[in-house]
Amino acid sequence: MISTIQATDRFENTEFSNEVLDGMALPLTTAYTCSQCGTQIGFHKRDFETGAREHRSNLKPGVARLLDEFAREHIPDTRDFLDWVCPQCGLAARVYVRFWAGGKHGDAGVSLLSVIEGQPDTDEVRG
Ligand SMILES: [Zn+2]
Repeated sequence: MISTIQATDRFENTEFSNEVLDGMALPLTTAYTCSQCGTQIGFHKRDFETGAREHRSNLKPGVARLLDEFAREHIPDTRDFLDWVCPQCGLAARVYVRFWAGGKHGDAGVSLLSVIEGQPDTDEVRG
């Protein structure tokens, strides 16, 4: 079973940029909380930048294909994403991101949009 969730429901922070507001740099890290076992997985802004741009996938090919198919029907922008497997329970997860550039100081950033998760206890995902 695959489900889609807002990134804000899983990540403590979903917006990254190089911008400095009132002398304070915005946070460059975030943590995902596994919906199945509660494990927190930390990410750095550069994880999204390098992983998503290179379209690397850490998932088994069968799992990645299922998420791809699901995303084509449910996710509006499937261009850039990062995926991983929960080290504790094996839940396969992927976050779709959007890169942006612009602003007053030529800032660039990343927004985390949608998460999809695949339960590992189903035959489709296990394969
Ligand atoms: Zn987990």
